[in-house]
Amino acid sequence: MAPDSLRQLHSEKLPLAVRYMCEQSPVYRHKLDEAGVDPASIRSVDDLERLPIVTKDDMSASDGGYLAVDEDYWDRHGWMMFNTSGTTGLPRTFRYTDTDRRMWMWTDARALWAMGIRPGDRALLCFGYGPHVAMWGMLYALNRMTVPVIPSGGMDSRARAAAVLNHGPTVIAATPSFALYLAGMVRELGADPRDTRVRIVISLGEPLPDATRRRIEESWAAQVHQFYGCTEAAPSCGGYTCGHGMHIMEDTHLIEAVDPATLQPVPDGQPGLSVITNLCSEASPQIRFLVGDFTTLIRGDCECGRTHVRTTGFSGRADDMLNVRGVTVFPSAVEDLLRRLSEVGDEFQIVLESPAVGQEVFRLVVEPRPGVAAQSLPERIAAEVRDRFDLRAEVELVAPGSLPKTEFKARRVRDLRNR
Ligand SMILES: [Zn+2]
Repeated sequence: MAPDSLRQLHSEKLPLAVRYMCEQSPVYRHKLDEAGVDPASIRSVDDLERLPIVTKDDMSASDGGYLAVDEDYWDRHGWMMFNTSGTTGLPRTFRYTDTDRRMWMWTDARALWAMGIRPGDRALLCFGYGPHVAMWGMLYALNRMTVPVIPSGGMDSRARAAAVLNHGPTVIAATPSFALYLAGMVRELGADPRDTRVRIVISLGEPLPDATRRRIEESWAAQVHQFYGCTEAAPSCGGYTCGHGMHIMEDTHLIEAVDPATLQPVPDGQPGLSVITNLCSEASPQIRFLVGDFTTLIRGDCECGRTHVRTTGFSGRADDMLNVRGVTVFPSAVEDLLRRLSEVGDEFQIVLESPAVGQEVFRLVVEPRPGVAAQSLPERIAAEVRDRFDLRAEVELVAPGSLPKTEFKARRVRDLRNR
């Protein structure tokens, strides 16, 4: 879609979304009142920046009043209820409707198509069938595309690895951590994941640093694609990769990047926190919702021919950022550093401790790859950390396979500091 047509579309949809949200959601009505904005004065997308930014705290302060449908409506027109994963703060509940389900199905199907998935593929979804939104959107999209699905909720990793070998999926959807772990489990069963039929790995639920993406590609001899979204401002995955970058579905969503301190928009090409406005939801059409992932927006045509805005990727939510002795560090940057080292295995932990008042220890617990000579590894890792973050690290090696594995949202940071 040409930029002018997109602007036109945004200008038609935004005023309607604002009026609808104002009528339906007590939280949003209150936000607009507080900001002194008359919903009737929002006439085009040029008025976007006059609207207040909605935060997770605004939502947490209200029991469901951030939604545009009440429980009575949901009982008659509902689809499913989802929870935020609760990485930070208390989980919040989102009740989506059947209209949302249909929209979700189409937008996710578009993203899957852009990744190269077609009828003739076969997908293994490595998620429990729980109240997290990402897997469900994908399931309905694959159904719509008549791509058969091998469900693996309730299976342990060994059973999933056996499913890869016995049922021949060409597509696997998993968190990046689990995609790597599953490759190891396939090897444990005596097979080489590179010899399976898997040709595309869809990564979602966690940031995907470059070094991790390369490891997954090499482990499976497959393309790696990314889905990006949040529970709050849905339906749709919001973002997806095309092989040349990550697009945001701009006909259904607006994305902005804002300065973390002032919450004012930053120019394209500069990093900021992501703010999403979704223009097509019945239950939760959030307007200027601060998702809070660090990202950089890029406009202009993509090599794939698409015109929708791209991002450089997402390095993690602002609330995941660590502050160690005054230095800010993203766990995903530590992950990238470690996974560039071929002797390092797939799991690690960051442990923060304060053994004495005013003292902070940044410790990395690392599994070396099985069978490698790892004596000099701690020293090398410490040197890399010093060069990249200007931070002193203690490095502890543990036996391969001894660190815990998680299926969804790996928790690799243990902050044991007294603060
Ligand atoms: Zn593209």
